[in-house]
Amino acid sequence: MNDIKNLKPEKVKEDLKDKSKEDMDLNIPAIPEAPKKKDRITLDSPGLTTDLLCKIKKLEQKNIKVVLVNCERCREVIPVPIPKNSIKKSELPVVPISFVHKNPKRKDLHCITLHLDHDFDIRRQRISDVILDLE
Ligand SMILES: [Zn+2]
Repeated sequence: MNDIKNLKPEKVKEDLKDKSKEDMDLNIPAIPEAPKKKDRITLDSPGLTTDLLCKIKKLEQKNIKVVLVNCERCREVIPVPIPKNSIKKSELPVVPISFVHKNPKRKDLHCITLHLDHDFDIRRQRISDVILDLE
């Protein structure tokens, strides 16, 4: 960072020009790193109920990582146990995992598909209806 300050303004300009020209020649669009959600729910988030913390403790194991997910269908935060190996052994940088959730009150099955990176951060989540093959 300090180096740039020491350069003469003309030099900086030149560098920028060269850089953009190079990029254009290669025709490679810059791929911005997918931003991580800043408002993700963590164990430190305020407002976690004792009940929820109990559930997390129960689910947590050596090979299980519990992530907190906001189930939009139930409008509640639920703990989802993720087998650590399914993320660690995946060749994908962001791994899709589906969790079937049943709301005891409404009895409707729905599936939350999470896209988790290797830090177990949720990059994306989608809720879908579940249809069971009962044949
Ligand atoms: Zn739910």
